[in-house]
Parts: sequence; structure tokens; C-alpha cells
Amino acid sequence: MFIRFALTAELHFNRDLTPEAVEAVGEAVQDANTLLFRKGVPADATDEEVGRITSYAVTGAVLRLEIVSGPYTRAHDALFRFRKEVAQKLGRHHLGLRNIVVTSFRIRIPGPVPESAVPRIPFITSADHHDDAVDLVLDLSAADLENRVPDRIVRLVQEKVAAQEYGGKGEHWELISESSRRERVYDGDPTQEMIRRRWIKHGASRGQWIFGPQAVEIFRAVERLVLDEIIKPLGFSEMIFPKLVPWEVWMRSGHAKGVYPEIYYVCTPKTRDPSYWEDIADYYKVTGTVPVDQIRERLDGPVGGMCYAQCPPFWPFVQGETLANDCLPIRVFDRSGTSHRYESGGIHGIERVDEFHRIEILWLGTREQTIATASRLHDLYTRLFEDVLELEWRCAKVTPWFMAQEGMVGESSDAEIGTRDYEACLPYNGSWLEFQNVSVNGDKYPKGFNVKIQSGEECWSGCSGIGLERWTAVLLAQKGFDRANWPERLARLVSEPEEVFRFL
Ligand code: ATP
Ligand code: ZN
Ligand code: MG
Repeated sequence: MFIRFALTAELHFNRDLTPEAVEAVGEAVQDANTLLFRKGVPADATDEEVGRITSYAVTGAVLRLEIVSGPYTRAHDALFRFRKEVAQKLGRHHLGLRNIVVTSFRIRIPGPVPESAVPRIPFITSADHHDDAVDLVLDLSAADLENRVPDRIVRLVQEKVAAQEYGGKGEHWELISESSRRERVYDGDPTQEMIRRRWIKHGASRGQWIFGPQAVEIFRAVERLVLDEIIKPLGFSEMIFPKLVPWEVWMRSGHAKGVYPEIYYVCTPKTRDPSYWEDIADYYKVTGTVPVDQIRERLDGPVGGMCYAQCPPFWPFVQGETLANDCLPIRVFDRSGTSHRYESGGIHGIERVDEFHRIEILWLGTREQTIATASRLHDLYTRLFEDVLELEWRCAKVTPWFMAQEGMVGESSDAEIGTRDYEACLPYNGSWLEFQNVSVNGDKYPKGFNVKIQSGEECWSGCSGIGLERWTAVLLAQKGFDRANWPERLARLVSEPEEVFRFL
């Protein structure tokens, strides 16, 4: 059993078709069914599998077509191939094609397709589920057909079916390497202890902390270690990536396929004319309440969201460019601002917050260069965690972020593409916390942002996110607050806590 498409459409011409024109249509249909629709189709494809016009009728200036197909020269592709042909033929009869009206469009997707695998989108007006297929009725314009909406709907349904079959198996997680067990010197929850010491305090917004001087010293020590041990030896150059990300960027990075539940959305005022906003300000002055509902009505957007993954807003820097061979691999990093995720009920301590700080390192080049950089990074990270910080850690291969976020499942085509998470144990609750990762993203970003390299080889990229909150949580959870127990390098980078605030 194979996929089937069926459509009816009307081709509207500028005036009534003459008998000669009707005859030309007949020839064009004959031609299309025997030759035009067969182009590019495997020779052994049965007639049933290939697009064909099953009936046509002319009334006045309108040519009505019924087209069905299997997987080859899908009905909508057939329609546009035929349009070109018939427009040319009828042009000779001084007839111009005005527009196309799609009057019905149906798809039968084989296989048991559960209701939950059919997207709730306005194009799908009904879905009839059978044991071995689902029949979809769609409401699509000719422009939608040209924009390949039917093909995307089919792919989406198939993805959802695969995701559900895969869902039970859980996220892929495969241990790559791990440290030996370390002596436990502390079993407290670092967040609680930092609060007690007034090193940190909840910010006014959800999942947000205000980090006091002592906590920031640890952040900066972590940064120092990463700079000295990772960033400088590998020659990464610092950049500043934007932190407000428009849809345009997330469309190209792939995040637009799934990031919605976790975005902090950003809106702009409909106008900056003070008189437009005066009553809002006055309302607040009089009542002491900010009229949020009224504000919402005066906003445009959302235009996008706050930084979610740190690297996508880098890419417009190289978008549409061809990179010279001799500048590759390019290695850069950003630590210029916060990342924001709506973690909902998941927020916990400083480990899982809505606003966090991260160094993002990013590299691009040929496939080999990209893989080699990732492998160098793994070596240096291992040295840092093992010899310098003496952590209890492990490294695991996991489902790449884009597969998880885009609902893609199964094995990627290239085994080198993927994400490795570094996790550390938190003695206070016995769990493992992902505190950073290294991803080889293949050609995903270069393709999305149309970046090429001089040699013509495929451009690849990778990135690694170092979460300062997570590193701090891990270090304090494993090493405690007594600097005598700290690894020497860390202790040297953090000074004795100073009393900046004294509360009465
Ligand atoms: P998790 O599975 O723990 O939610 P994630 O897979 O969403 O993590 P990534 O998208 O891989 O995380 O982000 C890369 C890094 O960013 C993480 O390793 C971590 O250091 C940091 N990070 C991500 N989300 C948060 C958060 N909510 N709070 C603090 N740090 C975070
Ligand atoms: Zn990234
Ligand atoms: Mg997450």
C-alpha cells in the first residue's frame, strides 16, 4: 500500500475556450498522462503510483481537472506541470490562464495512524481513521500547493507516528566515559547554603537569582578555568551574539519547529507615541496597578524571543557567505548575556532556572575539522574535570537537541552528528546533572543560513554550552564550602569571602 493524493481544480482562463482550444486540452491531457507525468519516475512504477488526470471538463472559460497519484508526480506536482504545458498550448489560441482554484484535496496516508499523529492545523478539515490508513481532507489554495504544504503535512504526520512509536523507548542515552568515584566531602544542597550565607537571593522574576559578590567570584573562576584550559589553547575568539532572537533566525536554525513551550516571548509597542501610552501611565499612577491586559492590546509581535540556545543569533554574521579555506576552522565564543527558558514547574535551585548564564563556544569548517575540534574539546574537558577540578562526572551520547526539539527520531544519517552531555553527580540528592554539552550539528546551521566554504566541501559546525549556574552547583555540591577541600586551582581563583553587605 502506498500514499495517495487526489485533487480537483479549476483552471480559469480569460475567456471561453473555443472548440479548437478544447481539442488542444485533450491532446495536452493525453500527453501529460503518457509522457509529462512519467518524467523522473522509476521505470517500474505502476500506473497507479504515478500522477494522472482522470477526467477533465470544459465549461465556458473554466477547465476542470481531476488528478490522482501515488507517491510519484504527486497530484499537486502534476497540476503545476500540466499548468505550464496547457498555458503554453492555449496561449497559441489567445487564451490566458487567470488563476487556479483548488476545489478539493485529499491524501490517504497508509499505516495505522493514531488520531494524535494528525496535526491540528486549519488546512486539515477532516481525518477519517481506518485500521490501515488515514484519509485526510484538506482545504488548500493553489499557492499552498505550490508552497509544498501537502508534502510537509505528510512528513509531519509520519514524524509524529515515528515519534510516538519511539516515545516509549525514551531519550537515547549511552555512556561514553566516566570518572572514578570521588571521596564525598559535602552532602548539602549548595543553593540552600548559598541562600543561608546570603550569597544569592531570588530575583523578582520566576526562576531568576540575584548573584551576590561571592557567588559571582565562583562564576568568574569557572570562566577563568574555561578560558585558560579550553578557549585559549584551542584559539577561540570572543564575539558578542545578540540576545533577542527574531523568528527569522529560529526558522533557519530549526528552533521554530519546536521551541514554543519554553520561549520567553518579546513584544514591541505598536507605537512610541507618548500620547498612545499616556492613559496606561495615568492608570498606574492612580491605581498603583499596571493594566497588563490593556498593555497587551497595544503591543505588536511577539517579534521573537529572548536567547534560548546561544548560537543561532550568531549565524546571520556569516549568512549567505562563502568562507575562505585558509580561515577554517573558525572558532569563536560568546559570554555576553543571559539565556532564558520557561522551565515551568521544573525550576530547581540554581541548577534549573528561567534565566541563566552560559559561555557558548562555536566552531565551523569542513566535516573533518568540525569533528576534530569536538574531539579536542572532549580531551580538554576531560583533563579539566579529571585533573584540575577532580569531579565525579560522566559523559553520555544523547539525542541531539535538534532531533529532540524538532520531533526527529531514530538514527541520524551521519554517526558523527550528535550531542554529548557532561553530567556530574550531586551528592546531596544522588542525582546526575547535565552541566554542559558538546554538539556536532553537521551541516544543519550552514545549510539553514546558506554558508558555503571555498573548497566546495560541505560546511559543518558544532557548539558547546557551558552553564555557569550548573558548573557552580556541581562544584559546590561536590566540594562544599570549605575552601580547604577545593581543588587548588579553583581555590586560588576565589578569594576569601568579603562582607560587602551587612544587614541589620
Ligand atoms: P536539561 O535536559 O537539563 O533541561 P538541556 O538539554 O535543555 O538541559 P541544552 O539545551 O543542552 O540543555 O543547553 C546547554 C546547557 O545550557 C546545559 O548543559 C546547561 O549548562 C545550560 N542550561 C540549559 N537549561 C538550563 C536551565 N534551565 N538552567 C540553567 N542552565 C541551563
Ligand atoms: Zn549552540
Ligand atoms: Mg532543558
